[in-house]
Amino acid sequence: MKLFANWHRMLTLVIVSALFVSVMAAQNPYDKFRNKEYTNKGYMSEQDELKLAEQVHQELLKQMRLVDDRSINDYVNRLGQNLAARSERRNIPWKFYVVNDKTINAFATLGGRVYVHTGLISATTSEAQLASVIGHEIGHIVGRHGLENVKRANSMKTQGAVIGATILGAILGGQQGAEAGMALGSLVAGGFLMKHSREAEREADFLGLYNLKNANYNTGGMIEMFQMLQQVSKGGGGSLGSILASHPDPREREANTRTEISAYLQGTDRRGISNSNEFQRLKGLVPTAQTSTPARKTRPRP
Ligand SMILES: [Zn+2]
Repeated sequence: MKLFANWHRMLTLVIVSALFVSVMAAQNPYDKFRNKEYTNKGYMSEQDELKLAEQVHQELLKQMRLVDDRSINDYVNRLGQNLAARSERRNIPWKFYVVNDKTINAFATLGGRVYVHTGLISATTSEAQLASVIGHEIGHIVGRHGLENVKRANSMKTQGAVIGATILGAILGGQQGAEAGMALGSLVAGGFLMKHSREAEREADFLGLYNLKNANYNTGGMIEMFQMLQQVSKGGGGSLGSILASHPDPREREANTRTEISAYLQGTDRRGISNSNEFQRLKGLVPTAQTSTPARKTRPRP
């Protein structure tokens, strides 16, 4: 009887310990990304990804207006290249674009293409804040999140049309036919490419934070960014683009960032680059009265 009681107690202890360990592990949502390897395995080849990225870019150009100011473009490109060079995907040609749109937003497609809205530049108050968003977008491309979305769209039916593997094959094969155009239109205008899961967003935050730190930025810039997003969303969030619409609650994102910094990156929120004269100059250059009306809105062709 005593033996049973001891066994019983031991079993309880084991169960309680196991629960404790799993609760502790669950406290850091970034743990699952910590030792991940990033490759194109399971997705299309990198060569095809780069090809599709260019086709998506051409499609996007029909829907939005890029900023035609060399100093703005050069600055954002320099900032982006510096971050990408410290990412886990250094061997692809990275391209950073500034979109003339007053909403606070940025997005990434595939194969090294990142797009930053002028509204984001206007809303940020330091280079580290802007770098944190660009780092997050680079994270989407390192994490192959766009490729994951393409894969998902492959088996999805939209408005009666299937963006099937064969149609994507047609795009990659360079065909200009109606089917290829329709698939590309659905992928871009339908928003499939940039609609990431919450988990993918967390991973991009994780990768973005380390990207920021590795480029010697003050990681507090990311915390400030999430605080700014909270403020803007409190005011109704009208000026926010998809950053908030499809991303986890900025309070959760701030908490995750703080947890990671205190566990693994202590002090990095107190040192490193916060701002630069160039950033202040950029703020003065960005037009304030932009229009978010695209030159021509395209929808997936019927
Ligand atoms: Zn994101």
